[in-house]
Amino acid sequence: MPLPSDLPIIDHHCHLHPNHEGVGAARRFAAAGGTHLMLATQNYTAAVPRSLDDYRDQFDTTRRLADAIRSQTEVEVKCVVAPYPIDLVHAAPLIGLSAAVALQEEALELAGREVREQRAVALGEVGTPHFPVGEDIQAACNRVLDYAFSVARGADCPVVVHSAELDGPGYRSLAERGSRAGVRPGRIVKHYARSALPAAERSGIVPSYLARRTLVDQVTGGDGPWFLETDFLDDPARPGAVLDLATVPRRALAIASKGPDAAERLQIPFVASFREVYGWTPEVSGPRVP
Ligand SMILES: [Zn+2]
Repeated sequence: MPLPSDLPIIDHHCHLHPNHEGVGAARRFAAAGGTHLMLATQNYTAAVPRSLDDYRDQFDTTRRLADAIRSQTEVEVKCVVAPYPIDLVHAAPLIGLSAAVALQEEALELAGREVREQRAVALGEVGTPHFPVGEDIQAACNRVLDYAFSVARGADCPVVVHSAELDGPGYRSLAERGSRAGVRPGRIVKHYARSALPAAERSGIVPSYLARRTLVDQVTGGDGPWFLETDFLDDPARPGAVLDLATVPRRALAIASKGPDAAERLQIPFVASFREVYGWTPEVSGPRVP
């Protein structure tokens, strides 16, 4: 059974680089049946950003890439912007910890403005290092995450969080951290989630599951909201480091081929969860390829 013609197929978290595969990767995504990309910003140069202008350039690059994809393919793109939280770890030795924190906060304000002026739909990635760091750096990262939540509350948008893998208590403490800043858990997405957790153990936080086959099979029957993502990096120097951009449509096709009931479950990651978390209902506009 092919994909239902009105079902959007969305990769909830990917990165693309204008000097690497870029638009071509989006074209490949469309050819596999994909319709929407949530395009997360990234550092496009090897150097860590050291000024607000560096972040301004970065967000502009993401927006221009999104424009190029919209004009050259059938894929709809929504931008997700924020200073990458790990930048703090690398900027601190160069400019000092307090300047690095201040830079993250200014860049978060800039990202909040991108959302308010409708050039982006969420703050992300924000969060904490997925590897051990010194106590002072960890504390600074937590402070910046609190700041990110307050910016998200002001911009009234979802927050896409980068962190180590979380278990039930981890989801709970993230939900509490968001609530203290006035962001409800249903607007907080744990990106790169690699283990299936029942809704009762997620404290209202929304997992964006890595679209590995076994994980997709595990979560497809479960309660929403949840998303699927590849975290595609578009980095020829790191082939196979993450899933390919065609993965989400391929998984969707495999599920839909099991029959109409299975296809119906795809409403959760591609329609209902977007409506719940982002407040918007994705629709298929162009012709479906496969
Ligand atoms: Zn990412």
